[in-house]
Amino acid sequence: MPSRSAPSSQRSLVAALLMLLACGFLATSLLSYFSSRSAIRDGIINTELPLTSDTVYSEIQKDLIRPVLIASMMAQDTFLRDWVLAGEQDAQRMTRYLGEVTGKQGIFTSFFVSEHTLTYYQAKGVLKQVQPQAWRDAWYFRLRDQAAPYEINVDLDMANQDNLTVFINYKVHDYQDRFIGAAGVGLSVSTVVRMIDQYQHRYQRSVVFVDAQGKVLMTGSGGGPQGLRVGQSLVDSPDLGGVLARQPVPGEGSHEYRDLEGHSHFLNVRHLPELDWYLLVDKRETGALDRIRHSLYLNLAICAMITLVVVALMHAMVRRHQASTEALATLDSLTGLPNRRSFDLLAAQALREAQRDNSPLVALLIDLDHFKALNDTYGHLAGDEVLRQFANVLQGSIRQSDILCRWGGEEFIVLLREADARQANEAAEKIRRRAEQLTFSYEDQPLRLTTSIGVSHLQPGDTLHTLLTRADGALYRAKQAGRNRVCSET
Ligand code: GH3
Ligand code: MG
Ligand code: MG
Repeated sequence: MPSRSAPSSQRSLVAALLMLLACGFLATSLLSYFSSRSAIRDGIINTELPLTSDTVYSEIQKDLIRPVLIASMMAQDTFLRDWVLAGEQDAQRMTRYLGEVTGKQGIFTSFFVSEHTLTYYQAKGVLKQVQPQAWRDAWYFRLRDQAAPYEINVDLDMANQDNLTVFINYKVHDYQDRFIGAAGVGLSVSTVVRMIDQYQHRYQRSVVFVDAQGKVLMTGSGGGPQGLRVGQSLVDSPDLGGVLARQPVPGEGSHEYRDLEGHSHFLNVRHLPELDWYLLVDKRETGALDRIRHSLYLNLAICAMITLVVVALMHAMVRRHQASTEALATLDSLTGLPNRRSFDLLAAQALREAQRDNSPLVALLIDLDHFKALNDTYGHLAGDEVLRQFANVLQGSIRQSDILCRWGGEEFIVLLREADARQANEAAEKIRRRAEQLTFSYEDQPLRLTTSIGVSHLQPGDTLHTLLTRADGALYRAKQAGRNRVCSET
């Protein structure tokens, strides 16, 4: 089985860790995002929008249903009917009656239109005669011809600073059930509109009232969902197409739809039976989920940071471990000097460079004198200690650029770069002198030692082997000549 190289297995380990962390973090982040998203959606659909609808509904009840009762009472009123049947004598009596009604809460106008004379009575007096051709009076003739006993008509009242005004128009019949006119009240629904505005701005939800045909009757001052204005129909909004499905008003309850820009919406629809209106509360999902989407991004950023930090730490740890294992394989365990294996690599490169640049390279082969005797006299452990201390001496005697190794036993090699014959001799002499002058010690015993050094110079065509063979020859001559000396190749 082919073994993987160290860097590639390290890369795959880091990649696996990265994948594991990224997948784990992504899964938990997305899981918590989707669960809080569904909680928020549930909250919007089941609580928030129905609550808004309840509040708006009870407010509209307060504002509208009571006036409908008042208008209905006017239509039943015996005084009013008797006065009409008696020939509408003394208009003041009618205007005083209407003035009494106007005093009631929220009602700022009340009226009666007589079928017999087409006179429009108001609290302030006789306003005008209604005319079938006048568009402003169209409501009266529409009411007269309809089957339902009353209608609610939403209009901007020009007499009242264009305020949104709701007219409740009731049919009045005599005692034989013959139509004799229309009575009713007009009221401002500014409180409802204010509330709708507040909801729209503060809670980013749109509120709109539509009739059974989907026509917008009332909404906030700035328009309803998708900018729908009073008088427009729901079908006018292309965004709502999906939720309408060929009906004028979506069915009661909760709906979800997507607008043309792709935003998801929640829509709550409620029927108001008293008015036969529909109340629609609409909320765009995006706004509601912005915060949790934000926290998702934050979450992912934090996770990415943690992942990066962990992976970087892991990478550094693996590299350090690898460096120490590599060092173990290339360093001699006794002296800490490069061993023969790493020397071969370093020396080959130094040889190539020297031959390429035609620069000098010198080999020193160093052997400790009578080391066997030292071992025999003081023991092998003393020999080991001396080897360690001599290695330190060597290390302190050479330049950074020189190459040093324990060649084996009590033999060492130094390769000197860029050194001529004189410099090489000086360097070898320095080593020899230091060893000679130094007192080594083992368990407080002083130990003396000398060295013999053979020197060879790189020649054209040399290999490491031939270079070291000549150094070995020089060393042999140094031993022969009595040891504790430096000999150069001849
Ligand atoms: P010479 O002056 O001719 O070099 O004499 P020598 O005794 O140094 O030469 P020889 O090669 O006969 O002996 C080398 C000795 O070095 C033999 C061996 O026991 C010892 N030796 C080699 N490696 C180690 C080591 O790692 N630790 C110790 N304590 N001794 C070692
Ligand atoms: Mg030897
Ligand atoms: Mg020796």
